[in-house]
Amino acid sequence: MATTDDSFNGMTEHCDDCDLDTLHEVSVQIRTESLKEENSQFSREPYRVSECQRCGNRTSQRMNNA
Ligand SMILES: [Zn+2]
Repeated sequence: MATTDDSFNGMTEHCDDCDLDTLHEVSVQIRTESLKEENSQFSREPYRVSECQRCGNRTSQRMNNA
């Protein structure tokens, strides 16, 4: 059996909780954010979510950093 971990979107990143470089599962989520109520406009923002596989800490980061 071939061992590929292509299906697992894992990356080694720094975890603040662990204070270590740990394996993270990285995914992208589109979140709908409501902006100011007055114009009832919604924006769909992609967030990069990474979950530490050691402690389970999740961090999400907006991908469109203005
Ligand atoms: Zn961690």
